[in-house]
Amino acid sequence: MTVLITDTTVRDAHQSLIATRMRTRDMLPIAEDLDKVGFFSLEVWGGATFDSCIRFLNEDPWDRLIALRKKVKNTRLQMLLRGQNVVGYRHYGDDVVREFIRLAVKNGIDVFRIFDALNDVRNMELAIKVSKDYGAHVQGAICYTISPVHTVASFADMASELEGLGCDSICIKDMAGLIAPRDVVELVTAIKERVKIPVDIHSHCTSGMAPMSYYAAVTAGADILDTAFSAFGWGTSQPPTESVVAAFKNTPYDTGLDLELLHRIGEYFAVLSAKYRPLFSAETTRPNINVLLHQIPGGMLSNLVSQLREQNQMDKFGEVLAEVPRVRAEMGYPPLVTPTSQVVGIQSVLNVLSGERYKRTTQEVKNYLLGLYGRPPGEIDEELKRMVVGDEKPITVRPGELIEPSLEKLREDGDKMGIIHKEEDLITYALYPQVAVKFLRGELKEEVIPSLAAVDSSASAQIDFPREFSIDVDGEVFDVKVSSVSGKAIDVEKSSKPKDTPDGSVVAPMQGMILSVNVKGGDEVNAGDVVAMIEAMKMRNEVFAPHSGVVKEIFAYEGEIVNNGDVIMVVS
Ligand code: MN
Repeated sequence: MTVLITDTTVRDAHQSLIATRMRTRDMLPIAEDLDKVGFFSLEVWGGATFDSCIRFLNEDPWDRLIALRKKVKNTRLQMLLRGQNVVGYRHYGDDVVREFIRLAVKNGIDVFRIFDALNDVRNMELAIKVSKDYGAHVQGAICYTISPVHTVASFADMASELEGLGCDSICIKDMAGLIAPRDVVELVTAIKERVKIPVDIHSHCTSGMAPMSYYAAVTAGADILDTAFSAFGWGTSQPPTESVVAAFKNTPYDTGLDLELLHRIGEYFAVLSAKYRPLFSAETTRPNINVLLHQIPGGMLSNLVSQLREQNQMDKFGEVLAEVPRVRAEMGYPPLVTPTSQVVGIQSVLNVLSGERYKRTTQEVKNYLLGLYGRPPGEIDEELKRMVVGDEKPITVRPGELIEPSLEKLREDGDKMGIIHKEEDLITYALYPQVAVKFLRGELKEEVIPSLAAVDSSASAQIDFPREFSIDVDGEVFDVKVSSVSGKAIDVEKSSKPKDTPDGSVVAPMQGMILSVNVKGGDEVNAGDVVAMIEAMKMRNEVFAPHSGVVKEIFAYEGEIVNNGDVIMVVS
């Protein structure tokens, strides 16, 4: 039985290794060759790529899809769809889900891999139905995780339920690379007993076990494997395409793919990886069985690393890793995948950086506890519930049902702002109302890949390597000083902010983007009032007034990127 391969190099691989920064112009030169291989599909879109295109690359994600479709004429193009979350980090209304899928099919998607972070099938039903109605191949995904409430039987039940909803294949989505060879055999066998449709294994090399688990899964009857070209494989990414294909050569499972062609494509990506080298980190390229303890998936790990680095808090990395499983257990064992990985991740960071557990929480944690993400797999810690939501009762219906249609209103607003130039723009705006406005107005710029010299000098503090330069991030100029001060090698200073911290300052608790400033000069505020919202790691964080008083001066504006400790406003 031939094993089929889904190549993920231009989606999950760079999402897991380099925070989703691969540019479309680096994908297009190799697209026609990728089309010649004979892959079951090419995963090219969805997941974090949509957000990253807009936020960091100043690229239109729809244009990327259209350009790839032009060059890939024979191979199925696949995307990762987060059920009712679409490609965002919260649930959207049914009208947004429908329109997104219509446009994705129109522009070239053939295969929708659909999942829900909590494995709550209610959040997947609409997306599955709509994708089926457009004639797409629907792969129902089961988020694999290990916990007292996740059993082989519960996963097999879910597979059977997904087949019943019309899914064309099942994906075991092991986003953190946790699955051991023995366990995958047990799971694939159990699922194969229950469903007739093909089973795909999607894993990551995070713990180093994935290549072995892939082989074991195939002997148990798995039909499709997800791989990435070697230069963008291994580590927190997928097992390497070339090696997996080679491993099955001359066996009953032979993929039939041309190793020489794969090698040539692999060389292209090897050369390309040099350009992105400053973005690769030891934490994401080395296997580490620590993941078996904290269960953090690749994308989340590279995000945590970049967040802690930006805040000069990498020394807290170990503490944050230890905090994640505690928070996860208290929240009823959600699988760690977008968006619950961000919800749990940012709460773990807050618990460590603020020095007191749950002293600060995000809006998302509250929403999660109220059932707005769906049904948690296990019981939520009673004390946590009491501390964060008090007497408020969680909802019991499908969360999407409570969300009003929004497209008509957004279309009016978008037209007024003059940002809707094609039908896809409306969906971009609906998904990311803040960033999309700037993007669609052409106000954003492509992020600069840092030079290796700058990264190296920050890693080795003993080298005296003083230099100053300016970098431009999303249209904002930062004066960057690289100096040799131990532990704080890179100083990012913004001239608009007060250099000292005046009495009564409200400072940014973390690096992030100001989503809103909720007060204006002269307003009276009470201690504990929410005076601003900051988005960090894609989660909204409240900024509180430290004491009662009058807002004297505001130094931040909506959409501004602020650093940890920047003065947002002064309350007298
Ligand atoms: Mn993945």
